[in-house]
Amino acid sequence: MRITRCPRCRAEDLTADAHPTRLLQNGEVAPVFVCRNCFRAAELEFRIACEANGISYRPLGIRDSLRLLRDFYRQRLADSPDDARVSVALADIERRLAIAPV
Ligand SMILES: [Zn+2]
Repeated sequence: MRITRCPRCRAEDLTADAHPTRLLQNGEVAPVFVCRNCFRAAELEFRIACEANGISYRPLGIRDSLRLLRDFYRQRLADSPDDARVSVALADIERRLAIAPV
């Protein structure tokens, strides 16, 4: 079973519990997945980086977050097809994506 470590704390396994945020790298916004514990701090760091670089900060929309998570879990499932935790996480995200926005 493959483990995907949180890139921020390098401790938590986020294979089946990832939280999408963003990083500012060389002026480019890149999506990144962190663990539950790191999420708020990572989002705050991104916001501060945006302000420092004159980029307007906007929170990630819920559907954009869900799409990123769907792609993330699909990739994890391709890496570890037998990992039931990932199947459950992906099914939950697809169920939430299927609910039309009000
Ligand atoms: Zn973390």
